[in-house]
Amino acid sequence: AVPNIDAAYAIKEIKKNISIPLVADIHFDYKLAIESIISGADKIRINPGNIGDESKLKKIVIAAKNNRIPIRLGINAGSLEKGIQEKFGSPSPDAMVESALLNVNLIESLGFDQIIVSIKSSDVLDTIEGYVKLSQLIDYPLHIGVTESGTVKKGTIKSSIGIGCLLNQGIGDTIRVSLTGDPKEEIIVAKEILRSMKLFKKGIEVVSCPTCGRCNVDLINIANTIENKVDELYTTKNIKIAVMGCAVNGPGEAKDADLGIAGGKGEFLLFIKGEPIKKVPEDKAIEIFMKELEKLL
Ligand code: SF4
Repeated sequence: AVPNIDAAYAIKEIKKNISIPLVADIHFDYKLAIESIISGADKIRINPGNIGDESKLKKIVIAAKNNRIPIRLGINAGSLEKGIQEKFGSPSPDAMVESALLNVNLIESLGFDQIIVSIKSSDVLDTIEGYVKLSQLIDYPLHIGVTESGTVKKGTIKSSIGIGCLLNQGIGDTIRVSLTGDPKEEIIVAKEILRSMKLFKKGIEVVSCPTCGRCNVDLINIANTIENKVDELYTTKNIKIAVMGCAVNGPGEAKDADLGIAGGKGEFLLFIKGEPIKKVPEDKAIEIFMKELEKLL
């Protein structure tokens, strides 16, 4: 986010320390966009609804063109142009699409076509409808997400439904999960959405059973502990692990897992592809499981 000129200058320093593209989200002032571009941003996001008149947009376009970087047109249901608000009465999918088309045409008329577009609403169905319509009208890449989706638990559900439905229709080129929470959570959720859609095949997928009368261990705690530890690991491989409540059914139910752990009585069973490999005492189970997992990375 670039809310002031110091933030724009900081891009230079940030760029020295990272190896991934840096997108600058511009707040209101076209000068911040230009300074961010000069400082080395790899893409800028502007909300045309709050940038001001065409002459300001033109200056941004010239800077982007000269520095060969794309612009994301970030249309937001909450800040549509006055004329569009008056025409539609509410921030409907059609209103967002009209705003997007208007601004795409404006930027194209300035001789620029390195555009990516987003039309975000906090309403999941409006988001889906808007993107579906927009995808039929323009060929530019689309950045998708449900904005202001809420806190980690509820926002994850809304984002997963919105983004998941669109990705399943082949719509969406970049994604953003917006949560009221630690930004790390947004990345974890985004990764899981992509993994569920089979669009991201690196890393460790954790499956765990819902527990039932056969479970004699504190599986909720164990699954959460393992999942948190796994979130800290990095691998380019595609690994599936299973945390199961009982050794009777667990290994069979998770026989596609590369490594699994299943609860018993006072001990745990470790298994690979459904086949038992060793029994481990309860108090050492997680530690031994994580060591076995590290061997697979
Ligand atoms: Fe129940 Fe065992 Fe299946 Fe978990 S793995 S749901 S505890 S039968």
